Parts: sequence; C-alpha cells; structure tokens
Amino acid sequence: MKRRLLALVLAASMAIQLAGCGNVRSAQAEGSAGRGDRDLSTEQSAANAFDGLGVESPAPDTSGVRYQDDYYEYVNKNLLDKIELNATDAQWNWFGELNAVVSEEMEEIIRELSMDGNTYERGSSAQKIKDMYECVSNMENRNATGLGPLKPHMDSIRNAGSIAEYVDAVAKLSGEFGFSSIIGGFTVMQDKMDSNQYAVYMMYADTLIGKEYIENSAAQEYVRLYFDYVEDMLLEFGMDAAQAAASADSIEALLRDICASTLTTEQYYDPSITYNAYTAEELQQLYTNVDVEKMLKELNVAGQDKYIVMDVGQAQKINSLLVEENLQALKDYSTFVMLNDVAEYTTETYAKLNDDIHNALYGITESWGDEKTWMGLTQDLLPWDFGMIFVEQHFSEKDKQDVEGIIELILEEYEEIIKRQEWMSEATKQKAIRKLETMQVKIGYPDEWPKAKDMMQVTPISEGGSLLSNLLVSMQVSIDYSLGLLGTTVDRSEWDVTPQTINAMYDPVNNEIVFPAAILQAPFYDSSYSYGANLGGIGYIIAHEVSHAFDANGALYDEYGNYNVWWTEEEMAEYERLSQSIVDYYDGYEFMGMPVNGTLTLSENIADLGALTCIASIIGNDRRALDEAFGQMAYNWACESTESYALYLLNVDTHSPNKIRVNAVLSSCDAFYEIYEIGPKDGMYVAPEDRVGIWR
Ligand SMILES: [Zn+2]
Repeated sequence: MKRRLLALVLAASMAIQLAGCGNVRSAQAEGSAGRGDRDLSTEQSAANAFDGLGVESPAPDTSGVRYQDDYYEYVNKNLLDKIELNATDAQWNWFGELNAVVSEEMEEIIRELSMDGNTYERGSSAQKIKDMYECVSNMENRNATGLGPLKPHMDSIRNAGSIAEYVDAVAKLSGEFGFSSIIGGFTVMQDKMDSNQYAVYMMYADTLIGKEYIENSAAQEYVRLYFDYVEDMLLEFGMDAAQAAASADSIEALLRDICASTLTTEQYYDPSITYNAYTAEELQQLYTNVDVEKMLKELNVAGQDKYIVMDVGQAQKINSLLVEENLQALKDYSTFVMLNDVAEYTTETYAKLNDDIHNALYGITESWGDEKTWMGLTQDLLPWDFGMIFVEQHFSEKDKQDVEGIIELILEEYEEIIKRQEWMSEATKQKAIRKLETMQVKIGYPDEWPKAKDMMQVTPISEGGSLLSNLLVSMQVSIDYSLGLLGTTVDRSEWDVTPQTINAMYDPVNNEIVFPAAILQAPFYDSSYSYGANLGGIGYIIAHEVSHAFDANGALYDEYGNYNVWWTEEEMAEYERLSQSIVDYYDGYEFMGMPVNGTLTLSENIADLGALTCIASIIGNDRRALDEAFGQMAYNWACESTESYALYLLNVDTHSPNKIRVNAVLSSCDAFYEIYEIGPKDGMYVAPEDRVGIWR
C-alpha cells in the first residue's frame, strides 16, 4: 500500500469524513483525477454558478434527457459533453479540476525556484522546495542511489533466520520510519474513549490491492495484473525468474489468508468493532508467537497503559501465520511491501513499474510524464510549505466571514431538525443540540503551522542528500512528531489537513468541521453567486459535514469527541431501522451496470440526505432559490470516470457514485417534488412512503 493510500485509510479509521470524493485525492496521488481535455476557463467558466433550471420555464429537452427522469444528467449534460477524459486521468470532477489548478500554480513556483540560480537560507521553504525538486528530478542520482539508505534494513529482513529475527527487523522499520507490512504497524491518534489524550493504535497489515479486490469475483482480472506487478518488482530486486514467480505466489496465498480474516471498509469506521484496548500483557496473549515486550521497545511505544487493536480477527490470523514454515513467505511479503512503498521515490525502473500498475488498475492509458510526476512528488513531500504559500496567495478574510454566516444558519437549522424528531426523547435531543453548540469550526488554515513543517529539513544532493534519504527523513519526522504527542494533552487547534486541500471534513473525535481555504472557491462558493447557489454549493457541503456528527458512526461520539453512546436502547433501535431503509434504498441503485453498496456507503448517504433536508428547510418556499440550490448541488457533483476507476470506487469509496449521490437524495426530498412537476411515471419519482432519511 502506498504511503498516501495508507494515510487515507488511517484517516478513514478515525472516521474523518470527506465531503467530496475522499478518494479523489488519493486518486490524484495514484495518478488520476486530473482535468478533462478542454478549456473550462473560456466556455464553461468555473466562476459561473449553475443558474437552476428556471422553475417557471425549464429549458426544453434538446438531447432527450428529461430532468424528471434524470436530474443529474439534465443539469450536467452540456458540461459533461465538453469533457473528454485525458488519457492520463481516471476521473474528472470539480474537486480534481480545482486540485489541478492549485497544482499548476505550485508547479509554477517550483519551476521558478529551480531555474533562478539563487541560493536560499537553509530551512526556508524556498530552499526546501528547490532542493527537493532537484532530488526528485535528478534521475541519474536516483538510479545511482538505488535502495541505498534502505539496504541495511532490507538485508535485516532478508537475512532473518527465525520468526523472532523477522519480527525484530520489521518492528525496527516500523519504529524508525513507520513502514508497516504484516505486524508492528502502529499510529498515534486521539484516544476515542478519552479524546483529550493520545493513544497507540496497533494497525492492521498492509493488504496491498485490498480485501475488496481480492474477494470480488468481478475484480480478479485486476488481481492477476497486480501479482504480475509483484513478480516484476521482485525480479527488479534481484530474484531470478523462478524465485520471483514462486515468491509472488506465496505472497498471494498469504494475502488471501489474511484478507479472509480482515474487517470490511465499513467495519473500520465502527468504533464498537475497532476500539479494543489491550494492556501489554493482554497483547502478549494475543500475539503468542511474538515477544511483545521486545516488539513494543523496537516500536518506541513501550510502557503505555493501553494499546488499541483495531482488527482483532486479523491480529489473531497473523499470529497464527508467524511460524517458522512461513518464514520465507513472510520475508518476501515484507520485502515487497517496502519496495512498493518506496517505488515512486527510487529508481526509474521501480517508479515506472509502480506507475504502470496504478494506471492499469484505474484504466489510465497514458502516464503523466516525468515533469508533472516530479512536481507532484515535491508537493506531496512538503505539504505545509506549499500550504503556507497557497494561503499567502489566495485566502480572503471576507469570504471566510461569509462562509461563517452560512455555517451559523446551518447549525441553527439543524437544531430545528433535531427538535422535530418524534422518535427522540427530550433528554437525547438536548444532548444532540449540545453537540451542535459545541461543534468546533475550522476555516481556511491553522493559526500556527504544525511543528512537522519545520522539523522537515531537506538535504541537497550537493551535501549527499537524495530523494530516498529525504523521503526517509520525512517519514522519521512524522513518526517523531506522533511519538512526541504521547503523554501530552490534545491541542484541538491543530490541523491535520493542508489549506490547499479541495475538500471538507468532520472529525468525530474533535467534534469539529473543517473547511480548508481551497474549498472556498467556485463552483463550491463564490461571493458573486446567488443565495440559492451558495446554499446548494458550499452550504450543502457544510450541512453534509454537520450531518456526519449524527451519522451511523458520528452518532456514537458525544459532544467532547468521546466514543460514548448517548442514545437510549429504543432510540438506537429506531436509528438502526431507519438506517436499514437507507441501505435498502441505495442497494436498489446501480452505476455503469454495477450495483451500489448501500452498506459501505451508509454514513455518507445519511449525511447527503440530511444535508439536502437542511438546505431545503433553510430556503423554505422560495421556489427560485430552491431551484438554484438543487441545480448547483447537481452541477458541483458532475463527474466522469473510466469504467475501471468506477469499479475501484464502488469497491472502496464510502461515498455513492456522484450521479447517485445527486439523484438519490433529490428523489427522497419532498421539496424537490414541490417545485418541479414530477409524477409516478417519471424516473426520479419515489413514492412518499418509500423516501428515506434520518434527519428529515
Ligand atoms: Zn462525508
């Protein structure tokens, strides 16, 4: 699993919920979600709001698509007609489009710095960016470095003569750099039971292409491609053909065995399943084939009162696999994981193999090309330095104040929505309202930049640095930063997300909503938009995030961000009944001929449904504003993707496909029927008794 994908999964395990396609960002990292092949700046300006259909006289159907049958297609047909996916992209949507614009601006900065011939003060952002780019783009240096600084660590895995030596070697790598393959992976996050403190979470194994692919009969073609890739990587590592083929087979056998005992993506969000506190002694009983005390020392996390095991079933399975007869297969597994983790930062051959497999998995037919790839890596390695530059160039205090006003409106409306729920007791309603009142709001960028920004220093090639050595520094910084948090009181003003991120989130452990500076742009928000358009744009996104406080997982956390069920048993039962109707409703949709997974997408669907109710309630019976809000919402979720990428998202994304996100919520929204003439014969029609939602 690539580091960024791992980061995404970690975020998922914290149940940080993204408004947009959370996976779009990882997709960007995996080489997609760029821009379609046309110039939107002239024809279909991103700065123009979608004006709505015009409730009195909707434009005639020229293409045969009726809004009564397919609202999403009707709103987006002109836009999507203009979009042809680039061969280098798996997907187009507004999140990716804006991300590409931000990246291009940052690329310009990199280009200028790389050519200006100046020397910058050590530790300044300019020095770091300039020298990092040189390390990234100097392929001769990368090829000469090879696996250089990692070689001794790889050797300690390859030379392990027993399970004990193997565990030692992988634990050292995890403790020092954060590499995690089979056992010893950990992360430091807020304690879900006591959110003022940090705790050590023992992470699950790296399941490579993932359980969802491994166990999906429709995805086996991709699994085959993946194991060809494993074989190619091992060949490049120096194994002979027979050895590489045999190792790939044994890695696959291990992986299938591990996946059979691994939680599903939706289970990872559920703290009642993933919060399992163990003492060191109890951990020893779980990992009977490991010297746990020694392992915790290697990980630099010995002496904690508790360790939270996120996937107990998987941990038991892995313990059972840690026997001498599996030693070679385990060593091969960990070797491959490391190669895969660093591939894009090492030699030309490893980087290309890695790029090719991601392109193949997502249906991308052409690579980005060296310069674009290098610039992307440079930005990934120095996220906060670029964040600071982004904020200096882009952030408007006035926009921030406008958006704060919209947030206030939404929180007030939510209070009304809570109050009208007949199935909730007065006491529970008060707790829910308290959760709204205490919700922390973060907009734009942090008051103080994270310490990790200055901890990350870049050593230039002229002083013996290389891309790989600087990558290892960034991994060490991240581990040291995390370890430094243990024993401290949580600082809730910290930001985990950079300001240039085109997204928004709710974090249940902080009971906070976060809107990075970059989401405050058209088409999501623009000060020149109408009231309705901004409510359907950024308003809908804000309401979606607020709804996450009361989705199937968020509802399990209290106002302080502690995992603490504050509902009565009857209320929980009713909540689950309503949830099941939402699961069934979305299970009934399909996308590109493939079924939507209503269970995987439940929490996001609850948030979407709640968001639209909230926006429609705020607008009330202003038909024009409702029309503008619905139209803008549908427009902002316009999306095109390759079939392979759609399959990938259906497997792993906790959001429904964009088209379904739009049409399914509208079909369950009473106000939608009130402003447009939609009847039982129309495609968008759902009978009143079949409409779903919790926060209605
Ligand atoms: Zn969400």
